[in-house]
Amino acid sequence: MERKTVLIVEDEKSIVDILRFNLQKEGYRTLEAYDGAAGLKLALEENPDLILLDLMLPAMNGFEVCKTIRDKGYSTPVLIITAREAEKDKILGLDLGADDYITKPFSIRELMARVKANIRRADMVSQSAGPSRDNRLDLGRLVLDKGASQAFKDGADLELTQREFELLTYLASNAGQVFSRQELMERVWNYEGYVGDVRGVDVAVRRLREKVEDNPAQPKYIITRRGAGYYFQKDI
Ligand code: CA
Repeated sequence: MERKTVLIVEDEKSIVDILRFNLQKEGYRTLEAYDGAAGLKLALEENPDLILLDLMLPAMNGFEVCKTIRDKGYSTPVLIITAREAEKDKILGLDLGADDYITKPFSIRELMARVKANIRRADMVSQSAGPSRDNRLDLGRLVLDKGASQAFKDGADLELTQREFELLTYLASNAGQVFSRQELMERVWNYEGYVGDVRGVDVAVRRLREKVEDNPAQPKYIITRRGAGYYFQKDI
């Protein structure tokens, strides 16, 4: 397997040292930046396989770094590291195109599992991409183009993030089948044996409903089965 590169953007040197040590031990190549502007520059020049991005950074904050990377068309997985518990920060980060977040203090084991899962997922996406007709999933008003990772409703691009697209595709490909948050964490987020925080699923579902549903308060596509999980319902 070719060596994967992880860019660490973090201004606390002790955290960078821990991350670098553990990533290199697992066989990753690392790049480090101690402020947002330097991180952005490395992200664009080196095109790493994954970016670990702190939010509170000198020169340019993590939100701006993430947004700029996405605005320039890069789909590099971005894992936000945040000291903040505030839900709105996490949601804003996901809104700006981050794939995931982890809250400080984090366990190295969990962080490494997420790095691995996000790189593997990005690899699977790039391998499955292609202009094949089989890559289209026609769901009536909704059409999913797996090659381009785009979802359309009534012909208009819904502008989903990669993660939202994957969640929708997974549910829609198994229409009518109920999946627990745990199962979605494992299958869409690729977190094997995930036992931790599954609220990320609820956040992603809420964001997805805002883009997909006519009325997010009364969803017709992504349905909650109380106490069980979520399922996709086809247009009737
Ligand atoms: Ca910081």
